[in-house]
Amino acid sequence: MSAQAQQALAALEAQVRRDLQYLNYPPADWVPQSPGPDGKPLLDVLIVGAGMCGQTAAFALLREGVRKLRVIDRAPAGGEGPWGTFARMPTLRSPKHLTGPDLGVPSLTLRAWYEAQHGADGWQALYKIGRLEWLDYLLWVRRTLALPVESETELLSLTPVGGLLCAQLRRAGQEETVYARKVVLALAATAVARRAGRRFPASTPLHRTHVTLSSIPPTPSTSAPSKAGASVCSAPALPPSTMPARRWKPARER
Ligand SMILES: Cc1cc2nc3c(=O)[nH]c(=O)nc-3n(C[C@H](O)[C@H](O)[C@H](O)COP(=O)(O)OP(=O)(O)OC[C@H]3O[C@@H](n4cnc5c(N)ncnc54)[C@H](O)[C@@H]3O)c2cc1C
Repeated sequence: MSAQAQQALAALEAQVRRDLQYLNYPPADWVPQSPGPDGKPLLDVLIVGAGMCGQTAAFALLREGVRKLRVIDRAPAGGEGPWGTFARMPTLRSPKHLTGPDLGVPSLTLRAWYEAQHGADGWQALYKIGRLEWLDYLLWVRRTLALPVESETELLSLTPVGGLLCAQLRRAGQEETVYARKVVLALAATAVARRAGRRFPASTPLHRTHVTLSSIPPTPSTSAPSKAGASVCSAPALPPSTMPARRWKPARER
């Protein structure tokens, strides 16, 4: 990247920060802090998958003042999603003017990012955005927003425990148990996500789990977290007839 483009990008990042200040981002954390069954602070949301959708979900939640969240991805930093890994098409299919990861903040759009580096003429000349450029753009959005992505951290299983979700994670060979009020499975709009969604029967509180291709009905109220759950996911807090403890596992382990 030329020195001029670097300067323009730095100016754009300053503008993003200003725009977000005007929008009162991030607002105060309004969700009351409470301990999980293991006594540790309960997560409001665990986002699994830090690709295009996962990181945008994190931005959306932070914009709403939901701050006690973690965003994990099993890929190394920068290796999320298909763009720099298994994708072979040189460009995206979507036209360049579609917005999304910016959540309506003009200075965060693909166009603003592209024009900062290639000028308005460069944008006019562009037919479709290259997949590696799209990856660069997503990573720029993530950096600029300082989204807290934990790389090389994998979700191993997910179990309902007393109105909460208990997730078993693994990072660098170490396993960790975390409790969350909600879990976003942003694992791609693929058969993987569809299969994961089907693991949660519609008759359980986990019907609040949605895959990226499904529509999202209004969320019913949650039951209070159980004190009975220990720090092991396998302890169901409600009778199986009310809430069977079904475990989600990555497709390759099923
Ligand atoms: C060449 C190409 C062009 C495309 N063009 C377009 C387009 O123009 N427009 C469009 O909308 N879509 C396009 N797509 C589809 C694109 O793949 C999806 O839209 C996009 O990647 C979906 O984002 P996502 O965040 O849901 O999933 P992904 O970007 O796939 O991210 C899912 C993440 O979940 C992580 N993950 C999975 N399992 C676990 C686990 N157990 N624990 C922790 N992390 C996990 C993965 O490492 C991955 O990083 C294109 C795809 C390709 C390959």
